Amino acid sequence: METKSIAIDGPSGAGKSTLAKLTAKKLGLIYVDTGALYRSIGLFVLRRGVASKDEAGVKRLLPEITLEMKYDGSGTQRVILRGEDVTDEIRSPEVSIYASDVSAQTAVREFLLQMQRDMAVRYDVIMDGRDIGTVVMPSAGVKIFLTADPEIRAKRRYDEMLAAGREVTYDEVLRDINYRDTNDSARANAPLKAAESAIVVDTSAFNLDESFDKILDIINERLTGNGAK
Ligand code: C5P
Repeated sequence: METKSIAIDGPSGAGKSTLAKLTAKKLGLIYVDTGALYRSIGLFVLRRGVASKDEAGVKRLLPEITLEMKYDGSGTQRVILRGEDVTDEIRSPEVSIYASDVSAQTAVREFLLQMQRDMAVRYDVIMDGRDIGTVVMPSAGVKIFLTADPEIRAKRRYDEMLAAGREVTYDEVLRDINYRDTNDSARANAPLKAAESAIVVDTSAFNLDESFDKILDIINERLTGNGAK
C-alpha cells in the first residue's frame, strides 16, 4: 500500500513546524522535522570543536554519528544522537548556524537522505525542511512552500524564544534568519526553493488559525482532487 506524503518547505521561521505538527495531529500523520537532523549533526560538529565550514573535518566525523528519531506518547519527535536525547539542546542559535553551514555540504546531505526517504516509505508523513518537495520526496502527494517576510518571521521566532525563556534580542534573531536565508538559498546542494508543483503560501498577513485553515484546504483539495493516497 502506498503511503501518504506531504512536503512542507520554506525558510526559517515561516511556521512550518508549528503548522506541520497541527496538521499531523489532525490527519493522523507522522510529523518528520528534518531540520532536527541537520541540527544534530551541527551540534556534534560543534561539540567536537570542528569548524562548521571545514568540509573535510565534518566529513571525517560522519561515520561516528548515529541518529534515531523517536516519538513520545504525545507524538512529539525526539532526536537521539549516539544514544543521547538532544531534542532540546539543538534549538540554540549557535546550533542553528552550525546546522545551516553543515547542511550545505554534499557528504552531510547524502548521509541524511536515505534516512529521510526511509521514513517516508514506512509511514504516512508530513515532512518539513528545505528540499523535501524537490529532493527527498519528489513524488509527494502534496507540496507546500510556506513563506513570510523576514521581519515577520523574525518577530514570530523572537516571541517563541522569549516564551521559552531564551535570552535573545530581536536583532539577533533577524540576523540569524537573514544569514540562514542567504546560506540555504545560495548553496549548490539542494538549495531552498519551491518545487515546481508546490503551492506557495505567504503567511505574512495570516495568523496561525488562518494559516492552518489555508493549509488544510490545500491538502484536502490536492488529496481528493488527484485521488492520491
Ligand atoms: O528547519 P530548521 O531551522 O530546524 O533547520 C536548520 C537548518 O538545517 C536550516 O537552516 C537548513 O540549513 C538546514 N536544513 C536543510 N534541509 C532540510 C532541513 C533543514 O538544509 N531539509
